[in-house]
Amino acid sequence: MINPDDLSCDFERSFGLTPRVYRAPGRVNLIGEHTDYNDGFVMPMALDRSTWVAAAPRADRALVVASREYRETITLDLDCHPPYPTESWIDYVRGIAAVLDGSGGPERAAPHSQDAAPARHLPDMPRAPDSPDVARPFQGRVTGADMLIASDVPIGAGLSSSAALEIACGYALLDLAGMPIDLDALARAGQRAEHEFVGIRCGIMDQMIACHGETSGALFLDTRTLQHRSLPLPASLRVVVGNTMVHHELASSEYNARRADCEAGVQTLSSRFPHVRALRDASLPELEGVRARMSDRVYRRCRHVITENARVEEAAEALVGSDFVRFGRLMDQSHHSLRADYAVTSAELDAMSAIARELDGVYGARMTGGGFGGCIVALADASRVDAIEVELRARYEAATGRRPDVWVCTAGAGVSRVK
Ligand code: ADP
Ligand code: MG
Repeated sequence: MINPDDLSCDFERSFGLTPRVYRAPGRVNLIGEHTDYNDGFVMPMALDRSTWVAAAPRADRALVVASREYRETITLDLDCHPPYPTESWIDYVRGIAAVLDGSGGPERAAPHSQDAAPARHLPDMPRAPDSPDVARPFQGRVTGADMLIASDVPIGAGLSSSAALEIACGYALLDLAGMPIDLDALARAGQRAEHEFVGIRCGIMDQMIACHGETSGALFLDTRTLQHRSLPLPASLRVVVGNTMVHHELASSEYNARRADCEAGVQTLSSRFPHVRALRDASLPELEGVRARMSDRVYRRCRHVITENARVEEAAEALVGSDFVRFGRLMDQSHHSLRADYAVTSAELDAMSAIARELDGVYGARMTGGGFGGCIVALADASRVDAIEVELRARYEAATGRRPDVWVCTAGAGVSRVK
């Protein structure tokens, strides 16, 4: 756990000033994967693990940003816009600062040569249709700032350390500048920062839950309207997260490729069914109606999204009705669909979720986050959770030779200023 007083002291030692301290949570998505860039439904829960930012304003337009995790301090100028992405963690901070400041867009970096191994897929795209409006929802300019970042959200594990970083820094910059904070607009700004400065065409789920997380449990979020409602978790349930400890470098390029497949599917669907603006609008019979006009790959990608949206709605109903067995079955089906149709699981995610499913007291288990590695989430009976934690750890290690990180999550709150 990060201690905000320690962080303040560290900041004072480095920058000689007393900072304000902010935090934004990571998240675990219970169900609704790869639906958030298809205008669909998701059910994330904010974690009690956060990215913390200690920050104080500067008189100039510099951001001096230190990350404990990367053991690096980077200085950037809010008025200078070098080509992006730079493949550094600072892209996230620069991105959110530039979007909130309204101080000009990034130039695109030259694409990688074929033989260089691209860590990020560089988008060759106009602004994506769902990319937030160019019109600035924020009045005023952000100020320069000294910032110290520290996080206990595992990085690159599918628990959204990236949105926690964007939202914590964005909230800090708005607060330091005395600008009003509209959380939906901040979430959209974070998404836009990731699209334009990082090159990941992410949906809006991660930023929304980092802003609106509730300690009572999960949220049901409609990513088209941004309407959300609380889904409290009863005391008899626990959410268990298991980190496979495998991170696949392909994740970001494959992510953008899945998104492109979904857009191809929408194009075919809308030519026959004009009401289909996004996969959220399509039904399975409609998809079957145009199956002959699309590749099998695009068909399967669309089938995942359409069935997953229905699963989220059904899971919300199951939770409200205390039908945890049904909820668990939907989680299992979600994993199967992500493996067979969406092709974003990995051998380790398949192995760990299969092990979890066999344990007494587990209602269901699935991969969570973008996939290709990272974490699984399991819904478990509170009375069995200690044994589940121990067993899952032992059996996964026996099966793969990797020692996983497994823990029982408590729901966390959305972004806040702590001191
Ligand atoms: P996830 O969001 O699932 O953790 P991503 O690949 O989307 O994985 O985001 C991880 C990236 O976010 C890191 O590679 C880094 O650039 C940035 N990041 C996350 N946490 C921190 C941190 N504490 N300090 C600096 N950069 C961070
Ligand atoms: Mg992320």
